[in-house]
Amino acid sequence: TAALAITALRKTYDNGFTALKGIDLSVQQGDFYALLGANGAGKSTTIGIISSLVNKTSGTVTIFGYDLDTQREQAKAQLGLVPQEFNFNVFEPVGEILINQGGYYGIERTIATERAEKLLKQLGLWDKRKEQARTLSGGMKRRLMIARALIHEPRLLILDEPTAGVDIEIRRSMWEFLTDLNKSGLTIILTTHYLEEAESLCRNIGIIDQGQLIENTSMKSLLGRL
Ligand code: ADP
Ligand code: ADP
Repeated sequence: TAALAITALRKTYDNGFTALKGIDLSVQQGDFYALLGANGAGKSTTIGIISSLVNKTSGTVTIFGYDLDTQREQAKAQLGLVPQEFNFNVFEPVGEILINQGGYYGIERTIATERAEKLLKQLGLWDKRKEQARTLSGGMKRRLMIARALIHEPRLLILDEPTAGVDIEIRRSMWEFLTDLNKSGLTIILTTHYLEEAESLCRNIGIIDQGQLIENTSMKSLLGRL
């Protein structure tokens, strides 16, 4: 089973604009995959559909074999999403944000608390667990978003432009953390418009342009051709 399989995916927005013109894409378990494309190419639309935030017009999406149309709850349980925008409650303490997120997935508080501790320590946020999220620096907020996406132990992590607007030092430490997660078996897909980021992290790459996948190949083979 592929971690993600997309066939003939199309999206026409209500204003009549067709953002995805029939995407076929499959990401294997354990992969670290980059979806690269210029602004407006259709990356966020694709991710929005995979994570059930955007309705597709047609096509199929399966996540670890679960069909998004017929097995949506199971499909969603496999997936952790790190959106571009911070969307946590900034007045909530950092630890509570993680534990409450666990609640959405039906994870018992005691178990969520243990997982939150582990994640907060891994991501260098343990000292901040009782602080309101608004007190965190930008880099810390980004790490909190990642921790929150992992609390239900998804098998696929998707990050939308994870290092946009992040300075180079923090970007490198995020890269390191993501690489470690991938080594431990997590399948990761990220969108980016930096080839450098894709190159540093990813094994395989898809390039999306005006709603079409124009490349789907290994990073090695792509770089060999440049
Ligand atoms: P990317 O993430 O690659 O920058 P998006 O998926 O956000 O691209 O956008 C793809 C195209 O769809 C763009 O031309 C964008 O303007 C358009 N688009 C995105 N959201 C909407 C919407 N809600 N209604 C109409 N057009 C949209
Ligand atoms: P600021 O945004 O104020 O520069 P951050 O909170 O982003 O500070 O970073 C504080 C420290 O945590 C930095 O030394 C940074 O290198 C480190 N750091 C940032 N991201 C991570 C991460 N994912 N894992 C571990 N350490 C990190």
